Amino acid sequence: MSTDNKTNSDIFSLLSHFHHQKIAFCSDEALGLKAIITVHDTTLGPAIGGTRILEYKTEQDAINDSLRLSKAMTYKSAITGVNLGGGNAVIIGNNSRIKTEALLRRFGQFVHELRGTYITSLDIGTTPRDMEIIKMETPHVAGLPASVGGSGDSSPFTAKSVYFGIKAGIREMFGNDSLAGRTIWVQGSGQVGEGLVSLLRKENAKVYVSDIVVDRMVYVANRYGAEVIKANNIYNMDVDVYAPCALGGTLNDDTIPKLKCKIIAGSANNQLKDEDKNGKMLLDRGILYAPDYLINAGGLISCYSELAGYSTSRTLELAENIYEATRSVIRKSKEEQISAHQAANKIAEDRINSIKSINNHRRR
Ligand code: NAD
Repeated sequence: MSTDNKTNSDIFSLLSHFHHQKIAFCSDEALGLKAIITVHDTTLGPAIGGTRILEYKTEQDAINDSLRLSKAMTYKSAITGVNLGGGNAVIIGNNSRIKTEALLRRFGQFVHELRGTYITSLDIGTTPRDMEIIKMETPHVAGLPASVGGSGDSSPFTAKSVYFGIKAGIREMFGNDSLAGRTIWVQGSGQVGEGLVSLLRKENAKVYVSDIVVDRMVYVANRYGAEVIKANNIYNMDVDVYAPCALGGTLNDDTIPKLKCKIIAGSANNQLKDEDKNGKMLLDRGILYAPDYLINAGGLISCYSELAGYSTSRTLELAENIYEATRSVIRKSKEEQISAHQAANKIAEDRINSIKSINNHRRR
């Protein structure tokens, strides 16, 4: 999964570079709506992906972002085992200035024109309430508030999938997946971080939390019996697991040589600053890496359950599948001496290609 930026303004060459199926430009001048919807791959099912409302330096940046994010969703859906493809939408502009009911509903009409090949959901700048508004114009929406039958806050499911990713890593490293006495640093004590700390402490792991918001970190530590870490540069902490749950890019040329952890497994998106180079550095150092896009898939799973009408217990069962999926990735990485990120990509591609081969035989 390449995430490089393309500056070529030839749209068709961009589409073929990222292997996309479709890109739709949606405009309503009167409302100030400028949106881009990208559909990367629908082999496994309709393309799901969030709607991001963001100011971009250039329109080209917005297109690149949407192409990159929708491709990432294809891989995430494929490896998670759900029957969904990858898509994304970007609405260009300042969230607090442009977002109105009319703009969101007009956007919903454009989503509807894609006739279910794209299902929209939450991303930066959009809320469950916004999804409710978009739903006034199209049924192809997920991430609605729980009060109207949606999946609501996805972070508890994300925390759960990360927890299973951690247990899988521990199993592969130590031969059993008991967390008792294992030392785990959770970086970021936000919504996912707090849920994760709670799950880890229930199994008597020794948990350290860090956050740039000191009050938040102290609150979470006190509530669940974890320890706070106040130092800034703590990448050389001698722990079993480092769980990045704050921001992306923390696995880079500077931090990786310092790491003393044995396993990395957390929720933050795009943890590897350079997927190929930094992924290989982790492999060479013998540090097990549970790919972020696999183990943070709890949110995607909860949207999938919302669309399928599954119960919470079924959603949790699906989240538990992350355990075996993570073990398979780690084993493939070891066997083929490729980075865990590459191993995950290969497993995702194999699933898409195998289903592509049977799709031609399906009766329409
Ligand atoms: P959040 O905003 O609730 O929490 C993030 C926390 O990280 C905040 O408390 C923030 O103060 C802290 N933080 C920021 N920079 C930090 C730093 N340098 N060191 C330590 N702490 C720092 O976000 P969240 O919903 O808990 O998500 C956490 C991460 O997981 C994000 O990267 C998000 O993109 C990713 N993620 C979340 C979900 C979900 O369902 N919420 C799903 C997939 C991925």
